[in-house]
Amino acid sequence: MIDRTQKSSRGEEGWNLEASYRGLPSKLFSQVPPTPVKDPKMVLYNEALGKSLGLKFENPKGQESVQIFSGNQLPKGALPIAQAYAGHQFGYFTSLGDGRAVLLGEQITPTGERFDIQLKGSGPTPYSRRGDGRAALGPMLREYIISEAMIALGVPSTRALAVVISGEEIQRESSQPGGILTRVASSHLRVGTFEYVKQFGSEEDLKALADYAIQRHYPYIMKEEGNIYLRFFEAVADRQAALIAKWQLIGFIHGVMNTDNMSISGETIDYGPCAFMDTYDPDTVFSSIDQHGRYAYKNQAPIGQWNLARFAESLLPLIHREPKRGIALMEDRLQKYSTQYQKYWLQGMAEKIGIFQPAKEDEELIEDLLRIMKKNDKDFTNTFFELTYPEKGGGKEDVKKEEGREFSEWLDKWRKRLKEQKATEEEVQKLMKASNPVVIPRNHQVEKALQAAVEEGDYRVLESLLKILQTPYTYSEEKKSYQNPPDPSDEPYVTYCGT
Ligand code: AMP
Ligand code: MG
Repeated sequence: MIDRTQKSSRGEEGWNLEASYRGLPSKLFSQVPPTPVKDPKMVLYNEALGKSLGLKFENPKGQESVQIFSGNQLPKGALPIAQAYAGHQFGYFTSLGDGRAVLLGEQITPTGERFDIQLKGSGPTPYSRRGDGRAALGPMLREYIISEAMIALGVPSTRALAVVISGEEIQRESSQPGGILTRVASSHLRVGTFEYVKQFGSEEDLKALADYAIQRHYPYIMKEEGNIYLRFFEAVADRQAALIAKWQLIGFIHGVMNTDNMSISGETIDYGPCAFMDTYDPDTVFSSIDQHGRYAYKNQAPIGQWNLARFAESLLPLIHREPKRGIALMEDRLQKYSTQYQKYWLQGMAEKIGIFQPAKEDEELIEDLLRIMKKNDKDFTNTFFELTYPEKGGGKEDVKKEEGREFSEWLDKWRKRLKEQKATEEEVQKLMKASNPVVIPRNHQVEKALQAAVEEGDYRVLESLLKILQTPYTYSEEKKSYQNPPDPSDEPYVTYCGT
């Protein structure tokens, strides 16, 4: 139950922090303040997000806010904790926890919403294991860019409020400037939080956690008939199905879909080795540590189900007194996840090619297109762009010549299919424009922006990129140069974890 007695006072900067999570069993967190840093400077502040949270710094880049977003000073009402959780990492169970983050509290917005305010890269905690509790500036800027791009693309995600340079160097493969990201999330409850309780807690702890999660993310379930925990599982599975389908539709690869990186709220969380696919290839993997392609593009939906099975195991004691009956119920719901995922994916893919109400047969039309794209090494985003804006960006005539007869046959089939629906050409265009981004955060452009920022302290490239990524579904001339895929001679893109 969300305990409002933990409420603290409202500050002049607009802080309105509560700490409902601290009402949970104490084994779920450790009280730990952020560790101060030497010489912090604010490099990015998300004014629009700050405003929607109810924050009103006179000068968001001034000393007061820098002190807060570096962890040197606590905002009014903050009661910092690191959260405990576990997780299956690449298939193996591990006890984890916030090793380099602290939750300052939950900000209650002017419209009454509740958001976790977390500092990431804020120093060691009891869960740091061998890590230094810090983060390098580059990866924190990268999380800012990609998470905000995801929001603009219409994908549920944690958000980025600020990035501060710590003024301290940290040791990775080379010495790097340190950075601290302020992350905003509906909550940081993960599948791994439930796995932690299953491993180290009692059934009472599990019930307290499940009740809290339901209250916080699925309050409507409280009023429903039947076993609320089964409904809870179903609801989480459904949001994951919808989320992962959205990733597929824009070519997003999370890269490290361990159960500790799967959020109960259904937001994309933990932007480590993630990246967007350029050339369409279902086997695409970016993460340096994913040697076997466990988290490849094509595996994201099945891995979602694998993770949900771990969630199901954790919830089992609340589902049925007889484990066998509980397992049967959960297996049925896991099956339903697959059906739901397929439904969301088909609807989304159909919309990308202008079909409002897909029939089963449309799957073949879509699969055919994807096969032609794969065969011809087509850029994922740009192929859909060219179908949406035939008069722009290279033009369909070029596309036709390149892919030859197969593609023009597909185009004929597609146009015939479009004519079978009632919608007008304008309506189809409108649907396609709303479903196909003109720009995505392409890796080579993100890297260019990060390089200028981290190595030269020049944030202009990054600021321009952020601006472009705010309106991914509207075409403008200035977006043209951001549509280019990387040079074919570029090395394959590789991303790294835990930086
Ligand atoms: P991630 O790969 O970011 O999901 O992190 C996996 C686990 O490693 C989490 O428990 C993190 O808190 C922890 N971790 C990652 N980097 C560090 C670090 N530099 N210091 C301490 N813990 C870390
Ligand atoms: Mg993580």
